[in-house]
Amino acid sequence: MKVLLIGFPMVGKSTLYRAAAGGDAKGDVTAVPVPDPRFDRIVAQVKPKKATPATVTLADDGEALAPTGKMFSNKLLEAAKKAEVLLHVVRAFESDFVPHHADLNPARDRESVDVEMVLTDLAIVENRLERLAKSQNVKSPGHPDYLEKRLFERLKPVLEEGTPIRAMEFDEEETKIVKNFQFVSAKPCVVAFNVGEADVSNPPAAVAKEIETLRASGTVAFAVSANLEEELAQLDANDRAEFLAGYGLTESAGAKVVQAVYGALGLITFFTAGENDTRAWPLRAGSTSLKAAGTIHNDIAKGFIRAEVVHYADYDEAGSLDAAYKAGKMSLEGKEYVIQDGDLLHIRTSA
Ligand code: GDP
Repeated sequence: MKVLLIGFPMVGKSTLYRAAAGGDAKGDVTAVPVPDPRFDRIVAQVKPKKATPATVTLADDGEALAPTGKMFSNKLLEAAKKAEVLLHVVRAFESDFVPHHADLNPARDRESVDVEMVLTDLAIVENRLERLAKSQNVKSPGHPDYLEKRLFERLKPVLEEGTPIRAMEFDEEETKIVKNFQFVSAKPCVVAFNVGEADVSNPPAAVAKEIETLRASGTVAFAVSANLEEELAQLDANDRAEFLAGYGLTESAGAKVVQAVYGALGLITFFTAGENDTRAWPLRAGSTSLKAAGTIHNDIAKGFIRAEVVHYADYDEAGSLDAAYKAGKMSLEGKEYVIQDGDLLHIRTSA
């Protein structure tokens, strides 16, 4: 899943990108591994030829938001539409050397970008409603024009109030229409406040309050010091853990970004413990075993017969898959089984 970094110029997007990539960043798109002690344990026990952790793809290839005029360039809008999640980096660090478009005001900067997304979508909705007004089909229930008009008439006042589309709920049919129009305010948006190094374990009150407000409204938000994290990312794992602890931090920038994205998309992880390749896979919570099979490979979904499922806690207690099977902890499940976070799967196929 692709996560696009957005934000005003010089707020620390590229610094956070490099920090999250942990020194492996080549170019401006990179796969950040999802830290997961359960996966580490499975790998240590199975000792596969190859271990493939779940990853989140981070992209720093969009243009910066313009502080004046049209905030989202067409190129940036296109990039935003292709991403599954937007990661808005907001400047919250003081510096006399790094220029900023106005005085330091993280809450205002965060809000102004949200408002711009809403206005961008409102223009699309208004335009479409004008066209629909000329269509005869809007009077025929069941016709796409009828459905669109009904939906857009509901969207318009909500957008006019400044509420992003992502805060609204839709039925299946409406979801399809919303997806089709690729509204930017419908994208899950995670907010990272880039605070100064001295503030990292104790963000300034204004930032802490903003994070609290955002979280209360269901938006994933966190504070990070991109500069500091970039330095830490250069260290080897042991030193890094020690330095993080020295700053009162428990997790790296990469882990914070990954967790935020997992939270915003409502993702869980399942595992396949093969001797050749042991893998962790991200999956939307509530997905079925058939969907998980399709995540592994389309052919596996096509030939799906049964899923052999061991819950992680049972695996952990038994100490190995073999032991878990022998202890009767494996259940055979059909296509409709809802995957639990941490499940170890083996899909039996007809092929
Ligand atoms: P971008 O334009 O948003 O990608 O911003 P960059 O990541 O290139 O950072 C712009 C400048 O801000 C660079 O000189 C960074 O070193 C600096 N910078 C980024 N994060 C911090 C921070 O937490 N504190 C300070 N003092 N400077 C920072």
